[in-house]
Amino acid sequence: MHDAIVIGGGILGASAAYHLVCEGARTLLIDRYDEGRATNAGAGVLSPVTYSGKLEPLFNLAMDAFDYYPIVNERLLQEQEEETGFARAGKLVVAASEDELEAFENAREIIFNRQKLRGTPSAEDLHDISSDEARTLLPPLGPVLGAIYYRNAARVDGRLIAGAFHRASVRRGLEVKNASVEKLILKNGAVVGAECGGEVLRCGNVVIAGGAWSPEFEGQLGIRLPIEPERGQIIHLSLPGQDTSDWPTLNAYHMDYMVPWPDSRVVVGATHEGGTGFRARQTVSGIMEVLGDALRVAPGLAKAEIREIRVGLRPQTPDMLPVLGSVPGWANLFMLTGNGRTGLQVGPYSGKIITQLLLGQNPESEIDFLNISRFM
Ligand SMILES: Cc1cc2nc3c(=O)[nH]c(=O)nc-3n(C[C@H](O)[C@H](O)[C@H](O)COP(=O)(O)OP(=O)(O)OC[C@H]3O[C@@H](n4cnc5c(N)ncnc54)[C@H](O)[C@@H]3O)c2cc1C
Repeated sequence: MHDAIVIGGGILGASAAYHLVCEGARTLLIDRYDEGRATNAGAGVLSPVTYSGKLEPLFNLAMDAFDYYPIVNERLLQEQEEETGFARAGKLVVAASEDELEAFENAREIIFNRQKLRGTPSAEDLHDISSDEARTLLPPLGPVLGAIYYRNAARVDGRLIAGAFHRASVRRGLEVKNASVEKLILKNGAVVGAECGGEVLRCGNVVIAGGAWSPEFEGQLGIRLPIEPERGQIIHLSLPGQDTSDWPTLNAYHMDYMVPWPDSRVVVGATHEGGTGFRARQTVSGIMEVLGDALRVAPGLAKAEIREIRVGLRPQTPDMLPVLGSVPGWANLFMLTGNGRTGLQVGPYSGKIITQLLLGQNPESEIDFLNISRFM
């Protein structure tokens, strides 16, 4: 008998399992490791300060998550032996062409208004920069019509940090099962276990962190969990002999971004494809779109070599917000899913928050607006 079973071992489930075992909960993580696991493909840009949406509670949660990153990263580096890929790389937000200017100016206004209201980050850390300065920071970049630079933005490797959570948790007593949870065991309005390959596993609580596959339990629970897979194709490029270690990440407004890594690698992406179902496949049009957008913004990448193409299925909700919290009508059941395009950013912190809820503590951040009840 476990105190908790976590279903799904992507960044959300891995972080929940880690925080649960840190609190002494006897925990079992069950993961099917589906092809298309979003965590393994994610770009890993961490920069809520340059978020230009207007939803303040989401911005606040993302900021709390961002502040927690270096803390949990340091713990992971001490508790297991491999890297997480977390580093302060800085970030450029640019308008690369006329048709991006309006979106850029709107975002610029929101970003600098927030900076003024909050009195942070300092002007030294977040400011406008010229096209020439931007190109000095990121040499493959073409001339741009506007640019903002945020010095403290970070990046992380989803695959590495999820692995670090797994290893650190196992050292603290986490049990892991590579299997599929076929159904939940329900009794008198409460979840009391999970069924795996015909085996019934009893537990005190269940956390559903199944990414795009989470709606599998909808019918059994009689709830609505409108999460769809959103396919993202992302391409890893090599620039042999180039020192890319100090290059910042970049966002433009045709959904394109670049994430440089120290090993002469630049990741460019990504597609945002709905209606693909669970087909985590590379497509001709997806690759053309990503490379076309990358070259439009950064023509200096034309001679780069293609190292790898990854495909992930983002768990996307209709309102683009995560599903985080308890499930009305079902005792001992928690949702940690629907993180769409921001799961690497908020995932480590969300695992901490769900652990606080499960243990009956008050969550550190405001999360009521993320409860599944908004779809009921
Ligand atoms: C191309 C791309 C770029 C991205 N860029 C960024 C970015 O820059 N910044 C950012 O913050 N986010 C980014 N994201 C989003 C981020 O990667 C996701 O939001 C996040 O990884 C979702 O994690 P997850 O743990 O919820 O799901 P996943 O990583 O998909 O993991 C879910 C796991 O649950 C398992 N599972 C499901 N059902 C069951 C079951 N019944 N039994 C057992 N196991 C089960 C699956 O097999 C899988 O292993 C990006 C995503 C993509 C695809």
